[in-house]
Amino acid sequence: MKALAFARNGGPDVLELMDLPVPEVGPEDVLVRVLACGLNHLDLWVRQGLPMQIPMPHIGGCETVGEIARCGSAVRGLTVGQRVMISPTQGCGRCAACHQGRDPGCREFCIPGEHSQGGFCEFAVASARHIIPLSNTWTPVEWAATPLVFLTAWSMLHRHGRIQPGDDVLVQGASSGVGSAAVQIARLAGARVFTTASTTAKQQLARDLGADFVIDSPQQSFAEVIKQETQGRGVDIVIEHVGQAVWKDSLKCLAHGGRLVTCGATTGPKVEIDLRFFFIREIEIVGACMGSRGELDQVLKLLDRRLLRPVVDRTFPLEQLAAAQQYLDARQQLGKVVIEVA
Ligand SMILES: [Zn+2]
Repeated sequence: MKALAFARNGGPDVLELMDLPVPEVGPEDVLVRVLACGLNHLDLWVRQGLPMQIPMPHIGGCETVGEIARCGSAVRGLTVGQRVMISPTQGCGRCAACHQGRDPGCREFCIPGEHSQGGFCEFAVASARHIIPLSNTWTPVEWAATPLVFLTAWSMLHRHGRIQPGDDVLVQGASSGVGSAAVQIARLAGARVFTTASTTAKQQLARDLGADFVIDSPQQSFAEVIKQETQGRGVDIVIEHVGQAVWKDSLKCLAHGGRLVTCGATTGPKVEIDLRFFFIREIEIVGACMGSRGELDQVLKLLDRRLLRPVVDRTFPLEQLAAAQQYLDARQQLGKVVIEVA
């Protein structure tokens, strides 16, 4: 099968169109003919090299949507041709962490495309329990723009941020994958949403998604705007994935007892904390790494009911994965970039 994979870590130039064997299908597995696969910054980090062992040559891509091509002999309730998604959050289903709904805490936790082979190829395999049937509410490309980012944003706001109706929430970067999901989820939860966006097009998207205050950052200081609009109180939750560039001001605009929830570091991973501010204001800084399968099922239901919507910027064919990753890296996209597999 065709796969856009890499055999060593490095820049976009390590990506190669390879002819790799179609994955083997065990009795409890399902083989999926890939139609579309969403792109994430995670794909770039994995390609550049993480301090962990991954299979080589490696196929990235953790938001895989397609049609069932083959079911293992023990698989029940799924049929060939059915449109499905491969869950990006894969716990063992047997340990205490999995039973408690903390799948990322599972010692066997797997994100396909990171720990195992992903969807930038023609065929991907997954255990039947990680296969999620999809409706026709959205196209395969639209569905492929959802699971990782909506699950992450959902878990950040609900589990880690403990969002309540009436809360003030700052979402950094409304036009990013996680940002565009978080603005919608926070609105749906009844919060007042502040968000940052650096261009006219990004600001328009933020308004279309329901943000109450769209801050022209970095032209305008988001910390100043929030201070003014909340009469000096600050926000209850900051949804952060930008890192270094906004860290100091993100902390500064938290209300007493507020939560800063972070899931990324696209502008750099090293930050400083003034401990006096941290304890006097009783703030919480929480790390978030995706979420549980239960949370994924919940957020997919809301997408299916059109209470939330995928935001697709553009698609690239599989052969142009390197260009697509460079495009994502330039951070000019409005929502998600998706790879289409013909
Ligand atoms: Zn487990």
